Parts: sequence; structure tokens; C-alpha cells
Amino acid sequence: MPKYVFECQTDGCNLKFERSMKMSDDHRSHVCPSCKEVAPGVIEGFAFDFKSGSAATPGNTGVHKDDYPTADHAVGKDADKRWSYYQAREQVKTAARTQGDTPALIRRTGTDYVEYEPMTDVGRDARRKLTKKALGRVQAAKESRGTR
Ligand SMILES: [Zn+2]
Repeated sequence: MPKYVFECQTDGCNLKFERSMKMSDDHRSHVCPSCKEVAPGVIEGFAFDFKSGSAATPGNTGVHKDDYPTADHAVGKDADKRWSYYQAREQVKTAARTQGDTPALIRRTGTDYVEYEPMTDVGRDARRKLTKKALGRVQAAKESRGTR
């Protein structure tokens, strides 16, 4: 059974506690065992019991890829790698934004690369016009069907 974490909001209590509950149970709130007020659930995914287990059968480490090795992990496509890729990409985007002095970027995707270019005012205006036109067409199509 998954465990859910609750945190009491009563001043002076603020007890954080967990309860094992069925997926089907209402786990949005639970009565605080200390002050008996209703404590809301804390959204932190499923809180497994990290401490249980023995040397022979250790409990969860809490790190998903270590507890549940996947095919991706086995072939080296783990989350850390993917994350560093996204971070590198974000650096390129930030540089492009700084150079162009605009948050708007044009993304080009090649077979083996992705590049970003700051969008010019002319490009942005053209894009807005095209979007407006497309929305107009969608609206016209809805009206001709009689639905709004
Ligand atoms: Zn409480």
C-alpha cells in the first residue's frame, strides 16, 4: 500500500505524519493524530518507507533509477544524462535570448541537431498575423458547423 504524507497546518502543531492508504481511499486530507484537526496531504509523490528492510533485502534508496533499473538506464540513457542535455540546451537558449534581447526564439530541428535563433520584431509580427489568421479560420469553421 502506498504511503501518503500529511502536514498539519495548525499553529504550534505542524505535525508531519504518514499513513498507509489504499489508492482508492480519499488521501487528500487526514485527521492529525496530535491535535485532531484536519491536515492536508503533502504532494511529494509516493513516500515509500525508506528505512525498512535489512542488509539482505534493503529498503528503497528513494532514488527511482537505483530502485527500479530500467532498460534506458542499462544502456546509459539515464535521467542524469538527459537532464544535463536539457541544461546544456537551456544555456544555448539563454545565450540566444540575451543576444537577441527577446524571449522569443525560433527553433530549427535538423536530423542530428537543434538550434535556436532570436526572433526579430518582423518575424514576431508575421507570426502573430499568421496565428490570428489561423484562429479566424478555426472560428469560421466552428460557426459554419453551428457550434460555438
Ligand atoms: Zn495537528
